[in-house]
Amino acid sequence: MDKKWVYLFKEGEASKKSLLGGKGANLAEMSNIGLPVPPGFTVTTEACTEFYNLGEKLSEQMIEEIYEGMKDIEKQTEKKFGDLDSPLLVSVRSGAAISMPGMMDTILNLGLNDTSVIGLSKSTDNERFAYDSYRRFIQMFSDVVLEIPKYLFENIMDDIKESKNYDNDTDLSAKDLKIIVERFKDVYKRETGTEFPQSPKNQLLMAIEAVFKSWNNPRAVSYRNINELDHKMGTAVSVQSMVFGNMGDTSGTGVAFTRNPATGEKKLFGEFLINAQGEDVVAGIRTPKDIQELKDIMPKVFDQFKETCEKLEGHYKDMQDIEFTIEKGKLYFLQTRTGKRTAQAALKVVVDMEEEGVIDIEEALMRIEPKSLDQLLHPTFDIETMEKAEPIAKGLPASPGAASGKVYFTAEKAVSASKKGVDVILVRKETSPEDIEGMNASKGILTSRGGMTSHAAVVARGMGKCCVAGCENIKVNEEEKIFSVDGREFKEGELISVDGTTGKVYEGKIKTVEPNLSGDFAKLMVWADEVRTMGIRANADTPKDSNTAVKFGAEGIGLCRTEHMFFDEDRVPAVRRMILADTKEEREKALKVILPMQKEDFIGIYKEMKERPVTIRLLDPPLHEFLPNEEEDIKKLAETMEISVNKLKETISDLEEFNPMLGHRGCRLAVTYPEIAEMQTRAIIEAAVEVFQEGIKVKPEIMIPLVGIEEEMNYVKKVVKATAEKVLKEKDVDLKYLIGTMIEIPRASLIADDIAKEAEFFSFGTNDLTQMGFGFSRDDAGKFIGEYLDKEILPKDPFQSIDQKGIGKLVEMGVELGRRTRPDLKIGVCGEHGGDPDSIDFFYRVGLDYVSCSPFRIPIARLSAAQSVIKNKK
Ligand code: PEP
Ligand code: MG
Repeated sequence: MDKKWVYLFKEGEASKKSLLGGKGANLAEMSNIGLPVPPGFTVTTEACTEFYNLGEKLSEQMIEEIYEGMKDIEKQTEKKFGDLDSPLLVSVRSGAAISMPGMMDTILNLGLNDTSVIGLSKSTDNERFAYDSYRRFIQMFSDVVLEIPKYLFENIMDDIKESKNYDNDTDLSAKDLKIIVERFKDVYKRETGTEFPQSPKNQLLMAIEAVFKSWNNPRAVSYRNINELDHKMGTAVSVQSMVFGNMGDTSGTGVAFTRNPATGEKKLFGEFLINAQGEDVVAGIRTPKDIQELKDIMPKVFDQFKETCEKLEGHYKDMQDIEFTIEKGKLYFLQTRTGKRTAQAALKVVVDMEEEGVIDIEEALMRIEPKSLDQLLHPTFDIETMEKAEPIAKGLPASPGAASGKVYFTAEKAVSASKKGVDVILVRKETSPEDIEGMNASKGILTSRGGMTSHAAVVARGMGKCCVAGCENIKVNEEEKIFSVDGREFKEGELISVDGTTGKVYEGKIKTVEPNLSGDFAKLMVWADEVRTMGIRANADTPKDSNTAVKFGAEGIGLCRTEHMFFDEDRVPAVRRMILADTKEEREKALKVILPMQKEDFIGIYKEMKERPVTIRLLDPPLHEFLPNEEEDIKKLAETMEISVNKLKETISDLEEFNPMLGHRGCRLAVTYPEIAEMQTRAIIEAAVEVFQEGIKVKPEIMIPLVGIEEEMNYVKKVVKATAEKVLKEKDVDLKYLIGTMIEIPRASLIADDIAKEAEFFSFGTNDLTQMGFGFSRDDAGKFIGEYLDKEILPKDPFQSIDQKGIGKLVEMGVELGRRTRPDLKIGVCGEHGGDPDSIDFFYRVGLDYVSCSPFRIPIARLSAAQSVIKNKK
């Protein structure tokens, strides 16, 4: 049988997307479920391919089928192409299987010529409208079909407006428009050498050919190249009869959502205008009426509308965004698509629809974008107030949430202001471990440098504080206590607002709204937990963070970074003494002071976590990070240590490294100073024993960082184990604990089978693994990653979403080799990627047992892990 090139809407269906294009298939589907859709037909994507095979020509067969399609439309509408009394006008649209910007979009009012314009004028009783439509059609047709420059037409409009002293197009009368039409036709003739086509059939064929040609215009080709789309797919063309909402008081047009897109409430939501065209609703010239008012104006139409909306929702099983037109009391649906909605509405819609029996739990889980949950977990700016505010700068959305407060430039000032009850925004070039307390005391953090894994970003996410990092267009002068942006200066104490979800910074104060985590949110989380198989843990360093983590559903701690505890105001002097000690004895003396403090922290964390596992990592960062760099602090420290300032400075500079991230850090510290590991192990185990004796079955897991050599692991494990056993013996308690390692050095992945001989668990440190796998410094990559993304050298920031191809291979290899040695090896991940949905899906696929992320990303991780199960089952 010959190929069929043209499908009437009633002959198509949604599943024929590749043949009819997205638009064509959707229009067919709507017609078939009995919706009042203006009749039409679709020329197939196969016809597009054939058009090219024939050297950019429509075949006889195609033309015949197109004319047949037109006849069908004429029959159904009782209108005729080019008619003087009842002219048929159509729209012509392109539509590939995948929506593709760059192609020709739409031609409206095709079929207008010197005769039918009179018909249109009569049937609408509006001569001005008819001639305005005609001149628009000539303009659009000339532009998209023949690429005649737009300005040639615009110049004519401007000339006439100027000669008549008009300000707006709307001032043009029917008479003016008739003159414009004539002059437009002259332009057409001058530019093409032919008359403007008066035969609607010719207009139609020319328009269809133009759509097919637009498939290969440079914009469309480059779009397909970038998105790796098949150039052979072709586009379809849909031809549909026009309906008019401006045919008097029984006509109208509007847009509506089947549920409220802001709140999710199950109630029609939308607006309409009587006696108007679609664009009038959007243009904002007239104020549209609430859709509910249609009930009073046209009760029958409203009932039909409501009923059809319900039908549509039932059919598509989702909230719909609908465009409709009423022509002389008859309702038409022009488009329906899945409605865009806020995170809050999305949540309510899926929970309601599950209750209504429209969708099942798996579908409900798949419908929520995990990252969108962020919007529900943190305070957000009140939308109305925010819309009125003007952003002054934009940086990286480093940690979600929103906050307003007064600007302070040092951690110290931030702490003292917050003690006085001031809401503080800490503004710094970048933060360092010394700023932790200041960050903790602030409502929000703004830095002008650093990327998504910069200190500010990581710490703020852990604290659940909003943070905008790497905001390059602000200039921070910490000495002068000033930051400037676009010539405007902000001094200490001035009010600003930062939105860590969008990266935007505003002048002044914006009202915030608190999140609600019960109800629908809690329900979704319960569903996610029922479905997911991967465990979810938190990166938490304090009892407070642990408490938040448990509230958000953490099943354990996957990473407790012990160094964060060292920065406390009361501890830092002892820590500094330990680092600067000349002898082992002196170091041990200092460690003795720190031990009870560390123990106290662990007790607090164990008590919050109860019987859930707690992975505590031995000291990781290079020691010089703990040392003072301000002159005054150095002086003070020298005094307490009873040494000269110069001597102290010498020691400090001895500790300096060219490349601290690859220097004396991680397990290398435990190798050179085993007494630090001993002290930490003692604190971990003594604390565990104490809590255990209170009847809580604690599960400590001691984690050795930055291992890359089997013997490193063996050496440090021996130190840790000997200490742990000694403590248990002293206390005469039998308590289970594990000793494992982070896999965060590429070499560790390569020899994971050897490392697993001693390691009782693995946790992938994908931050360092990415740093060392790419050779990108975590602290400096922010300087160039942006360009890498812009130039499409990298698809995503590898510090945010795991690079599955490269770094992912290291993870896969580590899992495979590790389990070769220990088939039941427990493996997790605790880098920033543990809270990223795409990365979580990858970790699920390579068989990790759990992911660990900052407390505020736990709900995202729970949902992502559930989605992975569903996705990978299909
Ligand atoms: C990592 O490297 O992924 C990790 C979790 O450790 P840190 O970020 O503390 O180096
Ligand atoms: Mg690391």
